[in-house]
Amino acid sequence: MYLVADISVEICAAKSCKLCTQYCPEANTIQYSDEMGKDQGFKYGSAYVAVDRCKGCAQCVWVCDNMAKNNAIKMIMIDQLPKVALTENITYGEKSTTAVLASPVVG
Ligand code: SF4
Ligand code: SF4
Repeated sequence: MYLVADISVEICAAKSCKLCTQYCPEANTIQYSDEMGKDQGFKYGSAYVAVDRCKGCAQCVWVCDNMAKNNAIKMIMIDQLPKVALTENITYGEKSTTAVLASPVVG
């Protein structure tokens, strides 16, 4: 078991600053979806984490808390996440990505 970043769609989709996507040191780990917030009735899309790529460094938490001042990201044990984005379930568009959420990888 290990910690991964989890983004609150409710908080992120109200702000949608996209700042964390520029600071994660792991390529293609924090993604952005135009649909993820809007399909839940929020104003904007939301950032989300491909948990199988997340190394648990918590840099994104610092960026969201201290630079963006939005407090939308928490570190959570991977087996406590109900459904997550996995790299193999993400499709890439021109401006946004779409993830089909699945049970997390554990172990
Ligand atoms: S920094 Fe926070 S509010 Fe901004 S896109 Fe990332 S998770 Fe959303
Ligand atoms: S914890 Fe580190 S590796 Fe994981 S999404 Fe945040 S910045 Fe990226």
